[in-house]
Amino acid sequence: MTELLESAAMTTTTETHAFQAEVQELLGLMIHSLYTEKDIFLRELISNASDACDKLRIEALTNDALLGADEQLAIRLEVDEATRTLSVIDNGIGMSREEMVENLGTIARSGTRAFLEQLKAAKSEQTAELIGQFGVGFYSSFMVADEVVVTSRRAGAEGGTRWASKADGSYTLEEADVAERGTRVTLHLKPMPEGDDAGSEQDFTQDWILKSIVKRHSDFVEHPIQLGDDTLNSQKPLWSRPPAEVTEEEHAEFYRHVAHDMSEPGKIVHVRAEMPVEFTALLYVPKSSGMPMFEEPRSTSSLMLYVKRVLIMPDCADLLPVWLRFVRGVVDCPDLPLNVSRQTLQANPLTQRIQKFLVKKVLTALSEQLEQDREGYEAFFAAHGRVLKEGIYQGADDEERLSKLCLFHSSAEDGLTTLPAYVERMPEDQDTIWYIAGMDQATAAASPHLEAFRAKGREVLLMSDPVDEWMLQRLPAFDGKTLKAVDQGEVDLEGEDEKEALEVKQASHKDLLEALRAVLQDEVEAVRFSSRLKESAAVLVSAEGQVSPAMERVMREVQGAGMPATKRVLELNPDHAIVQTLEDLHGDASRASEFEDSARLLHGQALIAEGSPVPNPAGFAKLVTRLLVGRKA
Ligand code: ADP
Repeated sequence: MTELLESAAMTTTTETHAFQAEVQELLGLMIHSLYTEKDIFLRELISNASDACDKLRIEALTNDALLGADEQLAIRLEVDEATRTLSVIDNGIGMSREEMVENLGTIARSGTRAFLEQLKAAKSEQTAELIGQFGVGFYSSFMVADEVVVTSRRAGAEGGTRWASKADGSYTLEEADVAERGTRVTLHLKPMPEGDDAGSEQDFTQDWILKSIVKRHSDFVEHPIQLGDDTLNSQKPLWSRPPAEVTEEEHAEFYRHVAHDMSEPGKIVHVRAEMPVEFTALLYVPKSSGMPMFEEPRSTSSLMLYVKRVLIMPDCADLLPVWLRFVRGVVDCPDLPLNVSRQTLQANPLTQRIQKFLVKKVLTALSEQLEQDREGYEAFFAAHGRVLKEGIYQGADDEERLSKLCLFHSSAEDGLTTLPAYVERMPEDQDTIWYIAGMDQATAAASPHLEAFRAKGREVLLMSDPVDEWMLQRLPAFDGKTLKAVDQGEVDLEGEDEKEALEVKQASHKDLLEALRAVLQDEVEAVRFSSRLKESAAVLVSAEGQVSPAMERVMREVQGAGMPATKRVLELNPDHAIVQTLEDLHGDASRASEFEDSARLLHGQALIAEGSPVPNPAGFAKLVTRLLVGRKA
């Protein structure tokens, strides 16, 4: 009898507790913030409920009494439109009275103080981001509710506790009759904002809204999330299943979900790492462009980061470098805290380890594809090769892991080639990898610069992508062989005898070469004979290490007109008939103006042949016309 009286007395006793100062501060800031993504509260509550189910399952491993053999752990949503209440219910571990005081009245998390300081100092538009990053957990309920009531019964305990708060500095606790194990969090939702109709996006009493939030944020929670008779989440975390069991259709569906790309995925990287950090990743390399029409090109990588199947960052930029930003997918790392923010993630040593591991796996997958599915790889490379090349420019080509994966056109092959394949074809006496850059592929293939290389059987890579020249700045050699531009500096294709012969010719035409240089002194650094040419009359050569004329034009555009054009060397084919024609003109003082015209024509056609604009197109056209008329006469 005494016992009964006592318990009756206790159920009616309501204790009022003050929130820890930090909690009250956080609540105040959140309630008044203009944070628009209020719907994350549901993700947080579901995540807590899911954790509670996980905890129960783990405790039940050593205490079968806690969980019936055919009892299903589940999360339920209940809505009452009339009272504007929404409840998130789970049959997980539950909380004792002490645990409620501990968990729902304080914040034990480290960094809270710092976070609050940041929040207070932030401008309103930044608050939103900070709140999203910090993950305010249970307390985010107060963004959408005036009052929150939690009833809970700890697994294995009798009776339960009711916790309630209006976020006004305190909460109440009382004993309650809780029929079943687990926790029910009931939100008394705020009235709809004025002008916002019931049934609008912010109305969390609407089934369709709850469904869409769950789909978006909690689809892969392992426990079923039920609303009425419906289960809202697919509960199919593909990544946590054995890779061999996941079907192509399932991958395709999941890829569409993560990449918003309606085509099939290309290469799939499904990995599980245990040491030194435990995580699972399911990554997709798009087949080709993989970029939905409406999506802006990205400048960072983007993976979905899950912690124990709870999505915590839908657009995480820190798990892959920018030069793998075409990769889409999911990383699930149980060792990360659920409330990890962008900053803490960047600072977390796990992040670098995961990134390193993933980079290796993606590059291995790409090199497999390059070997096994050349056509598929070429389609991928056409769409994303430039991004990989950026990695080389950024100094990420350790062990030539990126340069090995690049495809180039070549003077020797119809299709595309790789650097290893080029090296493989190099004759024994060749120690340089030759390339021509700075013009489109057709212009490069027809360039006079290639004549001597063709004659000598030397293959030249046609680096026609605008990013190639940037890449080349960080790719001085491959496989121990220097990469060298065919149109820069001296090329050393000749034997000693040929070199001597060239010098003799050069000496015997010294006056002519000097006279040409005098006419073209504003345009060229020097005029000399060439060992590069077999058919063409003249070609322009840059100094070693100089950027191509095309790149120089880009740089001038960026830096403004102040940057002077670099003068190059005009090289003449000593065996071309033009040499005698020029000598004849040069030797005849009465034809001095014809000589000047010829010098300018020679320079202009060399520019045209490499795809450069002639500096004075109208003047050049006049010269050509004069030449045509002269011929006719
Ligand atoms: P976090 O989940 O990041 O720890 P929360 O403020 O969301 O922060 O929750 C605080 C704590 O309250 C949780 O760590 C958990 O111990 C407890 N908790 C919250 N919801 C539940 C629930 N549904 N069942 C059991 N415990 C819960």
